[in-house]
Amino acid sequence: MEEVERCLLCNSTRLETFDLSHFRGALVTNQICKECGLVFQSPRLTAQSLEAYYRDSYASMHQGAEVVSREELRIQTARAENLVQLLRMSGLSPDDHLDIGCSTGRLMQAVTEAFGSKSWGVELSRLYRDFCIREGLNVEPNLETLSENRREPFALVSMAHVLEHLPEPINFLRDLRNRWLDEDGVLLVEVPNLFFHRSFELPHLTSFHEGTLTDILRQSGYRVEWLRKHGRPRHRRIPLYLTALARPNQDMEIPPPIRSNSFGVGARRRLGRAIYETSPRVMTLVRRLRNL
Ligand SMILES: [Zn+2]
Repeated sequence: MEEVERCLLCNSTRLETFDLSHFRGALVTNQICKECGLVFQSPRLTAQSLEAYYRDSYASMHQGAEVVSREELRIQTARAENLVQLLRMSGLSPDDHLDIGCSTGRLMQAVTEAFGSKSWGVELSRLYRDFCIREGLNVEPNLETLSENRREPFALVSMAHVLEHLPEPINFLRDLRNRWLDEDGVLLVEVPNLFFHRSFELPHLTSFHEGTLTDILRQSGYRVEWLRKHGRPRHRRIPLYLTALARPNQDMEIPPPIRSNSFGVGARRRLGRAIYETSPRVMTLVRRLRNL
């Protein structure tokens, strides 16, 4: 484990413990930055232990076995359809696509089907990579091996449920912008919403709300075209997820000031989680009342 001394977003040392919880027997400690409101783990797994975690045990820990489950495929297919729908609504039709953390490759397949674009994927986990290769998809273990086979940047880069796992999110997003994204390309990002999603899992190093997700994209050299809160594919009403579409910011020399702050973050999470936890009971009650 390693301590994180400074905020990953604004570099401040004004940190305060935000939450202590357990995830599969491990203590997960989240801090909040008193300057910008970013919530992130410290102490956390080191980059080295994280890599081993994803390479070997991620799928088996989450599924209980070394197989890709039917339920997981169903969720990933529904999630991919929703993301493609959002791209369509933005009037996009990218020529080519890079999916970082492509997992079972469902988004790659959905993008190819919808837009006829060629899709490439990067996936650390051997289990998922083998699965994708069996499906005939173009998947590399990391960006270094991708660059051996591909020189050109992409019109669309997607990161669905990846950003919250990265030890240095700003550096990663900047490198992505400089090396892998077309000047007029788009970046599609989806993360759990701190205000409603459980989120505090051992491999979730950062937990974003709409303000901090916007700020991290801006600090990394993007401008956010839109940001949506929604529950698809898991919930019809509760906004468990944040999805943002961003473009490289061409004019920006100095990053804009950080807007968000830590005020009310704890209260909004407690409220959101309470709504999520009680919603099944409320819905059952509504149905019973309707049937009276
Ligand atoms: Zn901060």
